[in-house]
Amino acid sequence: MKKNSAAPEIVLYGDETLRQMSTPVEEITPELKEFIAAMFKTLRQVKGIGLSAPQVGVNKRFFILDLTSASFEFDEIVMINPEIISTEGEQCGEEGCLSFPGLYLEITRPERVVCRYFDVDGNENEVEAEGLFARAILHETDHLNGKLYIDYLAPAEREMISGKLKKIKVSA
Ligand SMILES: [Zn+2]
Repeated sequence: MKKNSAAPEIVLYGDETLRQMSTPVEEITPELKEFIAAMFKTLRQVKGIGLSAPQVGVNKRFFILDLTSASFEFDEIVMINPEIISTEGEQCGEEGCLSFPGLYLEITRPERVVCRYFDVDGNENEVEAEGLFARAILHETDHLNGKLYIDYLAPAEREMISGKLKKIKVSA
């Protein structure tokens, strides 16, 4: 990870990084903290809700969320080595992904989630999230496992968006 405070660029669908299994963060270094701060710059620039490390080309297990617009208990949150402890219920809603510009899909996910993670100071925390907060945690945790929201689509649905996917891939 190079020491660079410039906002890292988001990689798009088709980039290999998005399909790889990310490895745990072993140490929270000043460089990592700096990189995370830079990721927040990127996230704010694109007015996004969540951004995972693989989406900026780093296959490490962490992501950031900015829920300012939705006024949750947490505005900005960093989750390092997150672990989904339990899920409950079901929600269906429109979901986007910064690695798929302009592609919004109806995705069904659990309504509630309990997630254990480390914050940037190395403290272990547990959060109980619901609604959009839960959806964001699950979406970003999937990224750490090389899983993308399009993987939830049935083959016929996937076929319907194949043209859009090709366009995103070409521009990558
Ligand atoms: Zn995403």
